[in-house]
Amino acid sequence: MRTSRAALTVVVASLALSLTACGQSGEGGSKKERTGGEGSTVGIAMPTKSSERWIADGRNMVAEFEKLGYKTDLQYGEDDVDQQVSQIENMITKGVDVLVVASIDGRALGDVLGQAADQGIKVISYDRLILGTPDVDYYASFDNEKVGVLQATYIIDKLGLKDGGEGPFNIELFAGSPDDNNTRYFFQGAWKTLKPYIDKKQLVVRSGQRQLDQITTLRWDGGTAQRRMDDLLTKSYGSEDIDAVLSPYDGISIGILSALKSDGYGTSAKPYPVVTGQDAEVASVKSIVAGRQTQTVYKDTRALAKQAVQMADAVLNDKKPEVNDDTTYDNEKKVVPAFLLDPVSVDKANYQSVLVDSGYIKVSDLK
Ligand code: BGC
Repeated sequence: MRTSRAALTVVVASLALSLTACGQSGEGGSKKERTGGEGSTVGIAMPTKSSERWIADGRNMVAEFEKLGYKTDLQYGEDDVDQQVSQIENMITKGVDVLVVASIDGRALGDVLGQAADQGIKVISYDRLILGTPDVDYYASFDNEKVGVLQATYIIDKLGLKDGGEGPFNIELFAGSPDDNNTRYFFQGAWKTLKPYIDKKQLVVRSGQRQLDQITTLRWDGGTAQRRMDDLLTKSYGSEDIDAVLSPYDGISIGILSALKSDGYGTSAKPYPVVTGQDAEVASVKSIVAGRQTQTVYKDTRALAKQAVQMADAVLNDKKPEVNDDTTYDNEKKVVPAFLLDPVSVDKANYQSVLVDSGYIKVSDLK
């Protein structure tokens, strides 16, 4: 039997089509064409609602994506790594077009992001760099090392160390969660700034705990920090007072201040030491205004959300996202192109102009 030329053309064309489809699918999965805008869905995986900033980050991203016509699936992992992994798995199964992820444990997402890559889903690492996987496309964050530099510089200025402040002053050091890549950048910035004064003995760490692995705070937990501060005061500060505490995050600062209060600090005879922070959370800004916490680092999460949305929208539309750093953030598999925003030091003198006048915090929230 002779096959007609037309029938042969149909057979060849359908064979070519199915070969193309095989070439696109990973491990038998189906990889759909992904485009941005109207009708596309973004999976947004955030770490926890226990801190204000992540609630605002999620809310701001949803609003920005919706302005561009996207649908969103926003999930919070509540600091439970397995929960975050299964939330991302579900997003992939439901067919999201792009993922924006602020990890809980930066090293725990390799497998699930491998699944995303098999489906052609691009990944924006949000605020915290995802480590040990090639399946991260872009990174939106702040200049994380500068956060630590700002905290340490504030301590140095407040104690007058550059202007011949005599000292020696006692300082204790706290760092963030060991599984968050930002932790080492924050501490790196703070340590390189404080070290010359520690070397000259103008600053003294009485506990001797100066290595990152001695000072971290799992999951950035304020209660954990409070217990460590209690312990430091009991073991290393009999009749001595503490003059400064490097704290990487407002929730940790609140824990530290509770321990100090229980130890009799916060009176005119025994004032609080300089205590830094990060995120300009309402409770800490109130504490700054009331003269307890001394400083915080403001990071405008509205701007970060816009940046991440710009990146996601660009990758879905086959455009190159705007980046301003393509050397710093090596995740051990690749240097992830990043857009880094600028953090700002805030204390009692400038909270009004920086936080209130910019609309980041309402005056009524500070009542
Ligand atoms: C963020 C900080 C935040 C901390 C605790 C870090 O990864 O960069 O802004 O204070 O996590 O939530």
